[in-house]
Amino acid sequence: MERRTRQREAIWQTFERAARPLGPQETLELARSDVPGLGIATVYRNIKALVAEERLRAVELPGAPDRYEVAGKDHHHHFHCRACDGVFEVETCQGDFDAITPNGFSLEDHEITLYGLCARCAG
Ligand SMILES: [Zn+2]
Ligand SMILES: [Zn+2]
Repeated sequence: MERRTRQREAIWQTFERAARPLGPQETLELARSDVPGLGIATVYRNIKALVAEERLRAVELPGAPDRYEVAGKDHHHHFHCRACDGVFEVETCQGDFDAITPNGFSLEDHEITLYGLCARCAG
C-alpha cells in the first residue's frame, strides 16, 4: 500500500478504535504508534480528506474546537469532560422536547451537550 494511503487508513482506524470524537492532537497521539513520524499537518490533511469522503463528520461543540467522529451514526449527543477536555458519546436521547417548546412554536431540531467529569476523571 502506498505510504499516503497507509497513513490515511491508520488515521481512520484510530477513529474507529477510539469510538468517540477526537480532535487533531488526540488523533496524532493515538495514531503515532501505528505511523512512526506522523506529524500534525498530515493528521489535519487526512481528517479533511476523510470528511470530504464522508467517512468522518465534524462535531461542533459550543465554545470548543471541532472534534471529528465516524460518520453515519444514529442520532446521539455528546458529553464534554471539563477536566481532560475529552468528548464522549451519549447514546440515548430523551427525544421529546415538545413539552418545553413555547406554545405555538414549531420545533424542528435540538442540540444537547452534557458537561462534567468523565468516568476516569471522576474516579
Ligand atoms: Zn475526563
Ligand atoms: Zn437528541
